[in-house]
Amino acid sequence: MINFNEPPCVGTEEKYIAQAIKNKKICGDGEFTGKCNAWIEAKTGTAKALLTTSCTHATELAALLSDIMPGDEVIMPSYTFVSTADAFALRGAKIVFVDIRPDTMNIDETLIEDAITAKTRAIVPVHYAGVACEMDTILEIAKRHHLLVIEDAAQGIMSTYKGRALGSIGDYGCYSFHETKNFSMGEGGALLIRDAKNVERAEIIREKGTNRTKFFRGEIDKYTWVEAGSSYLPSELNAAYLWAQLEQAQQIIDDRLHTWNLYYELLEPLAKKGYIELPIVPKECVHNGHMFYIKMKNLQERTQMLDWLKGNGIGAVFHYVPLHTAPAGNAYSVFHGEDRYTTKESERLIRLPLYYGMGAEVIHQICECLSNYWNR
Ligand SMILES: *Cc1c(COP(=O)(O)O)cnc(C)c1O
Repeated sequence: MINFNEPPCVGTEEKYIAQAIKNKKICGDGEFTGKCNAWIEAKTGTAKALLTTSCTHATELAALLSDIMPGDEVIMPSYTFVSTADAFALRGAKIVFVDIRPDTMNIDETLIEDAITAKTRAIVPVHYAGVACEMDTILEIAKRHHLLVIEDAAQGIMSTYKGRALGSIGDYGCYSFHETKNFSMGEGGALLIRDAKNVERAEIIREKGTNRTKFFRGEIDKYTWVEAGSSYLPSELNAAYLWAQLEQAQQIIDDRLHTWNLYYELLEPLAKKGYIELPIVPKECVHNGHMFYIKMKNLQERTQMLDWLKGNGIGAVFHYVPLHTAPAGNAYSVFHGEDRYTTKESERLIRLPLYYGMGAEVIHQICECLSNYWNR
């Protein structure tokens, strides 16, 4: 059996977790959380990075910081993970979906402006597969209409758009360190804050609405409740696991890119025959090897291919079912304009196994099996 995913592990995780225990500091914001935050800041150039308990929570924190209120509207693609919408639905916002581009599966930036109303507060681009949305256009629209931009960069760590790190381009950016992502801490994430003026409030909301972070820095002599907040700090034990991976980040990315490129090379003949379509990465985007997907002709063929792969012990999967077609979609969202590509393209897509340390042999085996589908 070839697994779809295996959590990344570089070998130094146990040592650092033991170190956290020795430090007698296993709650949040100890040595390892500090190291991870500083690493993200240095890599991305964002004013502040704060580890969180998940990307879902980072997005919730961004929604709180953005003062999203009941009745506000937030624009995003329907082809995304539930958390992108949940964070804003929890604040009472109406989710306004627009269609995606078939080439990158990202929000179609040319359709955003038409969905804006007097109630629109934010645009939430999702960088699917670690390949950037057309951010210059999105930022320009946001500026003209005084909207916030919150990047769902759950899959986008170490990817860039025109040289800028994903997650650091909008007002806020959200990373995920779930076990299925490039770097992991089991469950976890990070909020990136572009403008220094928003940092203090983020620290307060993340720390149960208190100014405890300021207290720990010695800037005040006692801490207190200053606004409504929650607890979004991960444990040091999780941060220690992540630190092991961030220290070897480039090695992990190189390994994933190697897998991605080998898939592309081995599957190109099938694409040339018109059997499948391969991912497209626009020239201004550098990706991080997060995901390798192929597209079949239609839903029926995809179902058959998934059965074929499963029968041969390969853990390939389909991906998001568009949120506007989900049961909660009716309650919280509307789809603005025509669904030309969201449903059609999502029904054709298959994600192939991709994890750190897969090795060439396994990739060859998967590609051979894919190819045999047409000779079966
Ligand atoms: C993984 C993922 C999330 C959620 O991340 P968690 O850390 O599990 O909360 C949100 N959005 C996208 C696009 C994702 O891929």
